[in-house]
Amino acid sequence: MSFGTVINCMDGRTQLPANAYLEQELKVDYVDTITEAGPVRILGDEPDSALTESIMARVRISTDKHGSKCVAIVAHYDCAGNPVPEERQREQLDLAVRFVAAQCPGIRILGLWIDENWTVSKVCAAWD
Ligand SMILES: [Zn+2]
Repeated sequence: MSFGTVINCMDGRTQLPANAYLEQELKVDYVDTITEAGPVRILGDEPDSALTESIMARVRISTDKHGSKCVAIVAHYDCAGNPVPEERQREQLDLAVRFVAAQCPGIRILGLWIDENWTVSKVCAAWD
């Protein structure tokens, strides 16, 4: 069994597209899913917060116990938990990728954008 990890929004519209994308892209059997409302706002703007620590505790379970080698972070169109323009969301996504990469040496980190058609694209990445 192989695992990948996604830090996704709680938005029900983003779950299946992100998981299908990662199963295909990473060739993994399962995707461990960590959800918050607008996670790039939390990780990008509030890296010292309790919510960030909660997310990272769950990431470590996925990487340490399930052996995940890749963590994807999702931002998306029409995010109720992070109602800022797409441009700002992409800045937060970039910050979030850098933050998680610094916390997870040796783990591949992907930044994913999900658009108004619920299509997933990779917009940034880091290796450590
Ligand atoms: Zn959202």
